[in-house]
Amino acid sequence: TAKNRGRNCHAFYRPSMRVAADARLKLSARLRKAIESGKLHLHYQPQVDMRSGQVRALEALVRWYDEEYGDVSPVDFVSVAEASGFVSALGEWVLRAACEQAAKWRAQGLAPMPISINLSPVQLQRTNIVTTFQRVLHETGMAPTLLELEVTETALMKNPEAAVRQLDEFRRCGVRVAIDDFGVGYSSLGQLSALPVDRIKIDRAFVRGIGHGDTGAIATAIVTLANTLGLAVIAEGVETITQQDFLLSLGCVDAQGYLYSEPLDPDAATRLLEQGAVLSRRQAPSSPQRI
Ligand code: C2E
Ligand code: MG
Ligand code: MG
Ligand code: MG
Repeated sequence: TAKNRGRNCHAFYRPSMRVAADARLKLSARLRKAIESGKLHLHYQPQVDMRSGQVRALEALVRWYDEEYGDVSPVDFVSVAEASGFVSALGEWVLRAACEQAAKWRAQGLAPMPISINLSPVQLQRTNIVTTFQRVLHETGMAPTLLELEVTETALMKNPEAAVRQLDEFRRCGVRVAIDDFGVGYSSLGQLSALPVDRIKIDRAFVRGIGHGDTGAIATAIVTLANTLGLAVIAEGVETITQQDFLLSLGCVDAQGYLYSEPLDPDAATRLLEQGAVLSRRQAPSSPQRI
């Protein structure tokens, strides 16, 4: 039963997922087809240095438009792919698509731009992921140093030895590792300091309330923690100038969020890179609206 799946497997608790088993099977079959026939696509959300607006990297986010279902959220279909046993195929498609896009940008003569991709916990349990990824990097001419993998705390806690071993191997070949949605999982300080990671992404749950009654205490603690452990830090979900300025005051300079840019389709991302990859730090409204 759903109850037995445990707290970490939230897929079947989502209202959007409360569908009959045969409907889920159909969704799964359509998704598998979409992967096989290249019907998915990627959007790219800039990660910016808030001081200058310079884009430092792009996060690739998978998109699926299905003729029958319309736009399906990755939150929903990634869990379907996990449950149906083809999330590794999905993940490999994402990696290849991102690397092929990077190759196009290279061919255009654009400056190299690091790309982050999201890994499902299930992918990390696969023993051959490093080899598979290395092959894709090789085939597409992508420099490992331009790739960052985003993994959640939950992924790291599921089977820590296997995860740590594979992430270590990735880092040895120059790929960077970030902990996504940091702060919503349950990793302890001790565990965190032992993980082979380069940076922490502050979950947007701890950014959202800043300027809306939240003192930012958790965000402050996470930045301190990152500094203590010598990890880089980036804030997710920055939507207001107030949040930006608060984070800057903590010394957190990198951010991702609608204040700067939503995820961009490949054409829009290409235009951004062609124009020098700078997003204007948006101006505060004429009358100060600080709360
Ligand atoms: P994530 O990796 O934490 O990605 C950030 C999500 O926050 C994205 O949602 C992005 O559109 C959204 N976001 C960015 N800035 C803001 C903001 O200022 N405000 C708000 N409210 N939201 C913002 P998206 O694209 O719907 O992706 C949701 C999640 O689905 C991702 O969370 C990630 O966990 C998963 N996902 C997306 N693409 C992939 C993929 O290729 N593979 C895997 N395994 N998971 C993916
Ligand atoms: Mg992410
Ligand atoms: Mg995140
Ligand atoms: Mg998230």
